Amino acid sequence: MSVSSHDSETRVPEGRAVLHGTPVSPGIAVAPAFVYGDILDEIEVRTIDASEVEGELARLHDAIALVKKELLRDTEQVTRELGQDKADIFLVHSMILEDKSVLDAILDAIRNDHVNAEAAVAQEMKRVAAVLSSADDRYLRDRAYDVSDIGKRVIERMLGVWAHCPLSQPMILVSRELRASDTASMERGRILGFVTELGGTESHAAILARSLGVPAMAGVEGILDKVRTGEVVAMDGALGVAVVAPSADTRARYERMREEEARERHELASVLELPAVTRDGTEIALMSNVASGDEARRAAELGSDGIGLLRSEMVFMSANLFLDEDAQFKAYREAVEAMAGRPVTIRTLDVGGDKFVGTENPLREHNPNLGYRSTRVLLDRPDLLLAQFRAILRASSPGTVRILLPMISSVEELRQALGRLDEAKSELRLKGIAFDENILVGVMIEIPSAAMVADRLAKECDFLSIGTNDLVQYTLAVDRGSSYVSRLYRPHDPSVLALIARAVEGAASAGKPISLCGEMAGTPAYVPLLIGLGLREFSVSNGRLPGTKKAIRDVDLDTAISLAKEAVAAITASAVGALLGLDGG
Ligand code: PEP
Ligand code: MG
Repeated sequence: MSVSSHDSETRVPEGRAVLHGTPVSPGIAVAPAFVYGDILDEIEVRTIDASEVEGELARLHDAIALVKKELLRDTEQVTRELGQDKADIFLVHSMILEDKSVLDAILDAIRNDHVNAEAAVAQEMKRVAAVLSSADDRYLRDRAYDVSDIGKRVIERMLGVWAHCPLSQPMILVSRELRASDTASMERGRILGFVTELGGTESHAAILARSLGVPAMAGVEGILDKVRTGEVVAMDGALGVAVVAPSADTRARYERMREEEARERHELASVLELPAVTRDGTEIALMSNVASGDEARRAAELGSDGIGLLRSEMVFMSANLFLDEDAQFKAYREAVEAMAGRPVTIRTLDVGGDKFVGTENPLREHNPNLGYRSTRVLLDRPDLLLAQFRAILRASSPGTVRILLPMISSVEELRQALGRLDEAKSELRLKGIAFDENILVGVMIEIPSAAMVADRLAKECDFLSIGTNDLVQYTLAVDRGSSYVSRLYRPHDPSVLALIARAVEGAASAGKPISLCGEMAGTPAYVPLLIGLGLREFSVSNGRLPGTKKAIRDVDLDTAISLAKEAVAAITASAVGALLGLDGG
């Protein structure tokens, strides 16, 4: 798909190396690279003076004490939120930290070999991990990962996460993978681009990169060996090209492209002042997907029609903890106040898959996207669900807030969730706390089974919202976060279009509204097709409002309807791609 706005610049780029990967987030960046590899391999090994030994031991003890405290907090929290068995991983980490032979080896390296504390930890953890990973027993082999993990955590507490980054200026982050938690906690303005080895185009980290407007590309094999920290990289996220140590000519060209892009973005932004109507006057509601109160304020500034999706798990992920009812209430209230009466759709927690509160998946499932995720977790944990419902209800006043339930796969799940909502309402009534008694409840259509029974779901709720990011993944069996299969991730596959059409018909048959909040709506090439399929409400990240609005204003309804008919009847995704004018189908 051609999303590049600078096709005129077609000369072959020159530099020490030209890397190609999967385009993840468009944009041009030129900056020195920070290569973030395995922290255990990047530790500076230093011989310390005898006089420094005590100081190094104190730093080590402080860091271990801090990590133990954090592990205790994590254990309590996860036990409370998800149950004791899910917290076992933290107990394993504590046990590693308390292992006398491990600690003695580290102390010995500092005291007798005069090695600096972080190098002593790295050395020992690598040694133990190597021994474990060659064990015959699977359980022991799996523990190698935990040993490295806890070693990294102790070192990070001694150094600070960014301490081994020698660059103080903004940089392009080069790493093996981009985790959603990294993007969520990333310092704004410090990272100008991402180049990674792993990761697909629709992972949550990718979506975050796009909504932050940070260029990103993935799927560059062996990336950590191809760039050195400090080397300038010129990257084009839309094309998935990164030039390492570009020639003066190439560097100047990328700088020019960056300026041109900023100018185009500025021009495109002027469309925001115009209404979202097609050429023939069909009105489309254009809302925002947000992850925080700040983004909700930005949505209001940009004239968005409302919040079509507040990903509540992102609020938890930024805080790096499971928020209690009051903290949630505050966060939701912020968004509601920012939108001053325009609707705010708050989605209940969608954790699991590639989203975790904390940095790692505590469950280690083999197929996390098909596993213990989202509403499945909440229905199992009524305390969490009730607290979230109460917080959302408390933030509501008539007509302002809507509740959206993610990952619903059947009418039974919807009924169970609605039962819990009734309980939460009763609890508030008993306490005399006001809320919107008629709060609307919607269901995400992001699992094929839900699309197939959309008519029945629509009868029992107030609205539907299609999440194409997951719907594509589950329909085509293509992991949205994998670079290996990203070429198969095609939202315009006729099978996906059939499910969207089915969901639209299902909503219409029940007389309920339906919107689309997946990334498809933020891709201008898909907008005529989606309008032709009958959709009249979209929700996209703030950064995509101008592009989507411009695409809406270019649509002619009759042409769009014919296009959709042809696309739904097409035999292959490539044929639909050709209809839509996508490069390469
Ligand atoms: C989707 O799946 O399309 C969606 C909007 O939800 P998320 O990307 O958060 O999974
Ligand atoms: Mg989803």
